Amino acid sequence: MRAQEWTYDTLTEQTDTFETASPQDILAWSLDTFGSGLVMATGFGLSGIVLAHHLAQISPETTVFYLETDLLFSETYALRDHLAERLGLSFQPVHSGVSLERQRQEHGPDLWTHSPDQCCFIRKVLPLRRFLADKTAWITGLRRDQSAARANIRIVEWDEANGLVKINPLAFWTKKEVWRYIQQHDLPYNPLLDDGYTSIGCMPCTRPVAPGEDLRAGRWAGFAKTECGIHVQPKAA
Ligand code: SF4
Repeated sequence: MRAQEWTYDTLTEQTDTFETASPQDILAWSLDTFGSGLVMATGFGLSGIVLAHHLAQISPETTVFYLETDLLFSETYALRDHLAERLGLSFQPVHSGVSLERQRQEHGPDLWTHSPDQCCFIRKVLPLRRFLADKTAWITGLRRDQSAARANIRIVEWDEANGLVKINPLAFWTKKEVWRYIQQHDLPYNPLLDDGYTSIGCMPCTRPVAPGEDLRAGRWAGFAKTECGIHVQPKAA
């Protein structure tokens, strides 16, 4: 079946068969089905590292990209470079085209402190939408155990907001399984994870979490916001 022929029903059928498949099998199917229209997103979190490790072995030429907000931790950039060298991958930055200075001039200083939704829209949601416009499928490292909002994600689903297929090969993995994989393969990870951070995004919007808190509780602390918007689907009318 060609990428453009997928329907909600065939995607549902496909995703059901993947509930017991390995991430390698899901990636192999994705590559076979979507070919050069397939890309992978990463924020250099644990799941993304596991998937990048798999991809490096079966299809190192696949485009792996990250959202370059200009506000990532220095530890994240160091990890990007370390992974690129170790895995033989290049990580493509996807940028908004809006400098922090221009954002300051147009919206005032530190937009993230008073309007994080607008800041994420400018620096993440729109650039992603533009980048995915000519793609047919994207792979993400989303897992169901990361937050209540992600508890029902499917392995293969239709991304209504961006108009293409979205594949979450580690949807059913747990944090424990991901850590085990990283350790078994001696893969590098962000050292901030050893300092109480459990989900790492932009510097101004990320803090360590306390024991027992949601894995993503350290993102946008003080706001009701829990997602930057790139994984949020429009509500049905
Ligand atoms: S995570 Fe924070 S700094 Fe980064 S784009 Fe969103 S609001 Fe802006």
